[in-house]
Amino acid sequence: MPQRLHAEFVEAVGADAVASDPVALRSYECDGLTGFRVVPSLVLVPRTAEAVAAAVRVCAKHDVPFVARGAGSGLSGGALPVADGVVISLQRLRSVVEIDVVNRRAIVEPGVTNVDISRAAAPYGLYFAPDPSSQQVCTIGGNVAENSGGAHCLKYGFTVHHIHSAEVVLPDGSTTVLGGDSPQLGGYDLLGAFIGSEGTLGIATRITVKLLAKPAAVKTLVADFPSVEQAGDTVSAVIEAGIVPAAVEMMNALAIKAVEAAVDAGYSRDAAAALVVELDGPQAEVDAQFAQVKRLCEEFGATKLRIPASAEERALVWKGRKAAFAAVGRISPNYFVQDGVVPRTQLATALTRISELAAGAGLRVANVFHAGDGNLHPLVLYSEAAGEHERAETLSRAIAELCVDLGGSLSGEHGIGTDKVCSMPRQFSEDDLATMARLRLAYDPAGICNPGKLLPTPRLCGERPGVYQPHPLEAAGLIERM
Ligand SMILES: Cc1cc2nc3c(=O)[nH]c(=O)nc-3n(C[C@H](O)[C@H](O)[C@H](O)COP(=O)(O)OP(=O)(O)OC[C@H]3O[C@@H](n4cnc5c(N)ncnc54)[C@H](O)[C@@H]3O)c2cc1C
Repeated sequence: MPQRLHAEFVEAVGADAVASDPVALRSYECDGLTGFRVVPSLVLVPRTAEAVAAAVRVCAKHDVPFVARGAGSGLSGGALPVADGVVISLQRLRSVVEIDVVNRRAIVEPGVTNVDISRAAAPYGLYFAPDPSSQQVCTIGGNVAENSGGAHCLKYGFTVHHIHSAEVVLPDGSTTVLGGDSPQLGGYDLLGAFIGSEGTLGIATRITVKLLAKPAAVKTLVADFPSVEQAGDTVSAVIEAGIVPAAVEMMNALAIKAVEAAVDAGYSRDAAAALVVELDGPQAEVDAQFAQVKRLCEEFGATKLRIPASAEERALVWKGRKAAFAAVGRISPNYFVQDGVVPRTQLATALTRISELAAGAGLRVANVFHAGDGNLHPLVLYSEAAGEHERAETLSRAIAELCVDLGGSLSGEHGIGTDKVCSMPRQFSEDDLATMARLRLAYDPAGICNPGKLLPTPRLCGERPGVYQPHPLEAAGLIERM
């Protein structure tokens, strides 16, 4: 990076907030999708929202691409740096500014971890409901950018349902507030567009989240099944019965094996599938529905039911489930995590087809998923050293596209990022993509805010986003569209 530009960044954020030595830069070369790596030109770690805005103004002035980064736990390459760009890390903005007990809100900086919001609210009997399995490390800024979910989002909704407003630094370096405290604001829902925009519309520097009261009663069971199909059918039956559990999670045999090797959480090592069902709410309602769920599990062939007897035992069940991705490292040197969604009624078909695809590719797939909302997390296991990377990537993409073909979507919560950008035309039409590109251009006409993520633009070399226009070479019949 030219010396003068470097000096402008130092002036914007302070010398101690600029990292440029090669070792420091390498620490930011990827997020949780470690198969994709790019070393940025510079990393900025500002201490204040004003410094974030000043840094973005320097980027805008010189057309320097920038990528916001929270904890870097994303699984779709959303925080993957741009080689000639800067990474703006929000790690130092980690204050819980206010817990507003009366209005059940918290005002937080974007680098606060998901679990720290609930920790700060706990003394008042309140908590932040969206609970990604990565909640110990991932930041609320990342949660907002990805519209993150978690085990309990079946009943309580995703991040988008729990945000009142966000202060955002726009790609030109100006600051605005999206959303507000009133439940009915009128006008365009710009906060809605920002949540899930994967860092492509600006950088959130302060966020007001909703807090919920802790439920009066919670009951959990783990049911073992002889097949994933039977476990899948049980999920449909529970929902059909009109019960909305707080969480319904499933793991297949390979995932259970990995979890037990890593955490020893008490799952049965010989089960083909384990279903975790949690109910919460008023005691009488929980008791009645729990009896119904138990009966349905037995009716659909559960071989064993385990009911945690204490809060500690329940926490261990969740520790096992939430450690599942990391635990897979115990049984495979490398893996890709997919995040496709299928309609719940297609769960059994999807699982059968995934097994067939895996067998065809000669690779193993561990399955961990939010069964209640059909959000699959197939983990494609492979060995980089054995040269299986490309085969695993192809299988991983085929699984994501299978979900679209079954009437679902490419991503339930991990985002499109870099990983699934090429599959977007499978789910969205040219017109859909052009409309999204227009929104993005309205915020970021220079294309410097997390470029290359989310939308497959430019679709051909030299092509501008917008309504499809044939490339001059295509018009001349020299090249063809794929
Ligand atoms: C073991 C494991 C389990 C996981 N489980 C879940 C799960 O259950 N549910 C789930 O939804 N996800 C899960 N994830 C994925 C990941 O943790 C989430 O996507 C999380 O929200 C990312 O937060 P982060 O702070 O790490 O963001 P990063 O990875 O740093 O960034 C993610 C995206 O957000 C953008 N971004 C970051 N901060 C800001 C900001 N302040 N303003 C604007 N854009 C910003 C980045 O540019 C990038 O596009 C899991 C990941 C791991 C490793």
